[in-house]
Amino acid sequence: MTQPTLIDGKAIAATVRDEIGRRASELLASTGKRPGLAVVLVGEDPASEVYVRSKDRTANELGFHSVKHTLPASTGESHLLELIGTLNDDPDIHGILVQLPLPSHIDESKVLRLIKPEKDVDGFHPVNVGLLTSGEKDHALIPCTPHGSLILLKRALGSDLSGLNAVVVGRSNIVGKPMASLLLQESCTVTVAHSRTKDLPDVIRAADIVVAAVGRPEMIRGDWIKRGATVIDVGINRLPAPEKGEGKTRLVGDVAFRECQSHVGAITPVPGGVGPMTIVMLMANTLTAARRQLGLPEDKPIF
Ligand code: NAP
Repeated sequence: MTQPTLIDGKAIAATVRDEIGRRASELLASTGKRPGLAVVLVGEDPASEVYVRSKDRTANELGFHSVKHTLPASTGESHLLELIGTLNDDPDIHGILVQLPLPSHIDESKVLRLIKPEKDVDGFHPVNVGLLTSGEKDHALIPCTPHGSLILLKRALGSDLSGLNAVVVGRSNIVGKPMASLLLQESCTVTVAHSRTKDLPDVIRAADIVVAAVGRPEMIRGDWIKRGATVIDVGINRLPAPEKGEGKTRLVGDVAFRECQSHVGAITPVPGGVGPMTIVMLMANTLTAARRQLGLPEDKPIF
């Protein structure tokens, strides 16, 4: 059994993070300004609390100005909109992130649309979505998970992805759709599969690149993936792991990792693949947003 190349998201994210830290220090030295990130959490969802803590911690470690707003689940929509308005007008805040999902009584899209596009470091505002899909990604803020996934792909395959068959499984606004847009701009031939796709195994068997963003543990089997293909597993699924002790859990992706090992070209592990890239891409977007709002020229790409 030959070993596939393991795409080490943790190590790649660490190098990107170091570079962001270096650039943030340069920005501070030349302008006296720190990139400013505001993270807003509504409610007590434990997974969201973990994500928000880790975003706030990373921003602080990189020397950013970081502000965390934690609001109770009962917060009214108008109160949240008011807070967004205040953050939009705050010159020390360059990036605003509202942690999703929001409680059901709040209209998520209304909240996301109110964030100024230039401060929309999640890349979910319709202006940023439009810039990305119309081929003006250099002026957009790009959603963090697909952007990080593209970087991992290029680390595995080199910078030229043109002509490769890419299958993205999942069509969410957060991952699947922006991932497909990015791959199309890399001149891949892109297929987007979803829950209504017929003969999914055969669709995937044609792919040189598979990006799995489904949210179903190990749904994509090893024999669906062609020899030598590159696999980016975005899925994060928590399963019970009684073998580790009572109440313990383990994380698995959307791809049956072990079944792929004998024949894939390269694959991301879960954990330690896409996950660590998402958070550093958020920091990269905040730095980009800060430079644009300060009227500075675009930095050269980090990756
Ligand atoms: P989502 O909004 O639930 O979307 C899931 C997509 O999968 C949908 O488009 C759905 O199709 C499709 N799907 C569901 N069952 C399917 C099936 N049997 N066959 C083919 N397609 C199927 O999820 P998401 O937000 O994109 O997230 C996907 C996964 O990535 C989750 O595990 C999430 O935790 C993970 N994630 C990881 C990161 C990270 O940083 N690593 C970031 C974001 C998300 P329909 O549209 O037809 O329903």
